[in-house]
Amino acid sequence: MSNLENAIEIIKKKTAGQDQFHQSVDEVLEYVLPFVKDKQDYLDAKIVERLLVPDRTIEFRVTWQDDDGEIHINNGWRVQFNNAIGAYKGGLRFHPSVNLDTLKFLGFEQTFKNALTGLPMGGGKGGADFDPKGKSDAEIMRFCQSFMMELFKYIGPDHDVPAGDIGVGEREIGYLFGTYKQITGAHHGVLTGKNPAFGGSCIRKEATGYGCVYFLQSILAEQGENLQEKRCAISGAGNVALYTAEKLIQLGARVITFSDSQGYIVKDDGFSQEELISIRVLKEEKRGRLSELDLKGVEYYDGRKPWHEEYQVAIPAATQNEIEKDDAITIKDAGVCVMVEAANMPLTRDATDYLRDKDIIIAPAKAANAGGVAVSGLERTQNAQRLSWDCEKVDSTLKETMKDIHSICKAYGDNNGMVDYIKGANIGGFVRTADAMLAFGTL
Ligand code: NDP
Repeated sequence: MSNLENAIEIIKKKTAGQDQFHQSVDEVLEYVLPFVKDKQDYLDAKIVERLLVPDRTIEFRVTWQDDDGEIHINNGWRVQFNNAIGAYKGGLRFHPSVNLDTLKFLGFEQTFKNALTGLPMGGGKGGADFDPKGKSDAEIMRFCQSFMMELFKYIGPDHDVPAGDIGVGEREIGYLFGTYKQITGAHHGVLTGKNPAFGGSCIRKEATGYGCVYFLQSILAEQGENLQEKRCAISGAGNVALYTAEKLIQLGARVITFSDSQGYIVKDDGFSQEELISIRVLKEEKRGRLSELDLKGVEYYDGRKPWHEEYQVAIPAATQNEIEKDDAITIKDAGVCVMVEAANMPLTRDATDYLRDKDIIIAPAKAANAGGVAVSGLERTQNAQRLSWDCEKVDSTLKETMKDIHSICKAYGDNNGMVDYIKGANIGGFVRTADAMLAFGTL
């Protein structure tokens, strides 16, 4: 075993039980280890070993009161993973499943994703094991206020700039930003995903979904194909799923499924933009279940995932490890040719291996869903300039960014004349971060 492999084993032992973090590390190292093996400067500086340990993790208590006056206690975290190329940047997730393992995997992934955007952003992630489901607006507000009472000590526009993720949308960002502003007296770009009325960027809430579709367009163009009439199955029915669908429909594709944590809906000839609005109102405003949707021609299947249909493009946009090997077999049998990871790490290792073995193109999350953080980077720039860019400028910059990420994947992802997007994204993100770390010396 080499010194490097030995060091990796020690790091894994020290973080035993952090299975999602290890899964994301293994995926990166599969490509990075062969790449660095004859690059003595990276090896001497122990860049790989340093990249596997977050700069710091912050854990804190969040105490809040429900509408009946009862006190509740949750755990909050911020993982500041790596700031080699810029201030820490990455979302906040509010979901009962959140723990340090999840946030370390997300922060690690974010470091490479942010590097791929070409913008000066390091990687971080945070959140709480708080369940926003079934809570009143007033309860959400009190939770966000209490969360920010602690988080504000560790963030700042030039230091760490959080955004949203699962369970944290424009409403939560509003409460968090309002609290930060109240405590510090500063109105600056400390959070992204804000409402445009007080410093948010045009297209930020659409950006992750739109970016996934722009990336898919580049992949299809590479195959001499386009989106016209392509049947797409999407999982999830949140921010990323719905804006991915909006752009797909605009560009002539058919979106046939959505899902939530209870089941999935299907419309065989594809959802319309009007139907998307009904789904958005149900999920975002009423915080309801897909089972409550009443739309003509739409079937609901309780307790099932959406992969048993006929489609060419699969787009998981819900959560990590939602596609297991059995699902991957179903997806292959459905006739899929491209898998776009809109969610972070949506495939288990077995599922990835199976689909790759069957020559199905996989667009990994660090490349495919980087559009969200890229526009967050543009929101920071606008806040620093005290300006708001028009939507056309933001959208065209997003399109260029996704094309550039596709080019990086091609440059580093050659696999016997084909593009291995997982390889390209992992090595491309690594090189940019590693070179910055080398330049700083031993820190
Ligand atoms: P939302 O909270 O808006 O939506 C999440 C969706 O996924 C909901 O439909 C939810 O269903 C479903 N879901 C969540 N957990 C599970 C689960 N355990 N099993 C099945 N379904 C589940 O989140 P986003 O759309 O913002 O995020 C979705 C994914 O995209 C995440 O992986 C996130 O990290 C990633 N991402 C998000 C970005 C952003 O800008 N928002 C940027 C880059 C990546 P239900 O309503 O029943 O809970």
